[in-house]
Amino acid sequence: MTLNVPADLQLLDAQDALRHKRDEFLVPDDIVYLDGNSLGCLPRGVPARLAEVTQQEWGEHLIRSWTRNAESAQDWMALPDRVAAKVSRLIGAGADEVAVGDSTSVNTFKALAAAMSITERRVLLTDADNFPTDLYMAQGLNRLLGGSWEIRTCPNTEIMEHLTPDVGVTLFTEVDYRTGRKLDMQGLTARARELGILTVWDLAHSAGAFPVDLNGCGADFAVGCGYKYLNGGPGAPAFLFVAGRHHDAAPVFLSGWMGHADPFEMARTYSPAAGARRYLVGTPQVLSLSALDEALNVFSDVDMNVLRQKSLSLTDTFIRLMEPLAEKHPLTLVTPENHDERGSQVSYRHPDAQNVMKSLIERGIVGDFRTPDILRFGFTPLYHAHADVWRAVQGIQAVLKGQK
Ligand SMILES: *Cc1c(COP(=O)(O)O)cnc(C)c1O
Repeated sequence: MTLNVPADLQLLDAQDALRHKRDEFLVPDDIVYLDGNSLGCLPRGVPARLAEVTQQEWGEHLIRSWTRNAESAQDWMALPDRVAAKVSRLIGAGADEVAVGDSTSVNTFKALAAAMSITERRVLLTDADNFPTDLYMAQGLNRLLGGSWEIRTCPNTEIMEHLTPDVGVTLFTEVDYRTGRKLDMQGLTARARELGILTVWDLAHSAGAFPVDLNGCGADFAVGCGYKYLNGGPGAPAFLFVAGRHHDAAPVFLSGWMGHADPFEMARTYSPAAGARRYLVGTPQVLSLSALDEALNVFSDVDMNVLRQKSLSLTDTFIRLMEPLAEKHPLTLVTPENHDERGSQVSYRHPDAQNVMKSLIERGIVGDFRTPDILRFGFTPLYHAHADVWRAVQGIQAVLKGQK
């Protein structure tokens, strides 16, 4: 694709403080990849790290790798803690408040189970349009609890009004996976705390996408994915945040041996490890944890406020360039234009969204379709330039022209 990128966008790219970060990723140049909100691009350091882990750590050192060199990258036992420390920096948490392992779904179960067991109330408030796994986990847990909870739902635009003193726990996703709407986590958490409500935040589309400050907000619990904006690779381990003030009060229900204070003591009863390490369950997923560990190094010199500014500049540019298309075609912007209410994705409704996305992907514009009629485009400031936004819109224009 040779396209004349407008001068104003070229200038923005020339002045981009994060420009050099793109070189740290393998970004295919035959497509415009707008799905880093679903599976982040491959950080270039990961293949070498995985080769080392498989060939040396696994192949040669075998079981000795669990404990050798407590200080080195070869100590598999400490790997979850090292990764947790890197994640904690991105979400405004203490390193001992984060556990990395399992999937977001499983961590949602752990967070909900803990939260629901430390309140006398019996109402869980969530969003009927929340990501399905969040709802399913709440439903499954309620079955285990004999259906003793009311799972109450409200639109995510009306949460504040639904925070009432009978609500025990809230489960909301900070950035809606369909619309890209970002909630006021600070304001909602503050109000929840005033009312004695415990908050569980799903940060699937937040961690690595913009600054998150869990402790600054006073959040109680949070979960998030390793494979989206954190670029940890397909099926990367997820994270769980439990505010330090709850560690001793919130029982551990998935009390596996890796969360034990001394796993190799092989004791008959469970006693929790210090801090969030107690929320680990079984043997750490060393290969995928190593990939995530390496991927997180990309963030080590990134100012998340700078990243946020670039994200907004990319999504602003996309929305602006799409305006003439939205006038001509049945496209409706569903992502808020207000910066405070926007994550790092932009979504449009289109009556034939599924086919439009199919054609876009054939043309090399890789976003995704979400039922029933959403076209979703994710922007990742670490490896996108404004020129990519321009290329994407040229492709979208061509596809829409070809539509009836
Ligand atoms: C992607 C996503 C998940 C994924 O959960 P997994 O257990 O990793 O499959 C959970 N919640 C939200 C809001 C998501 O967007």
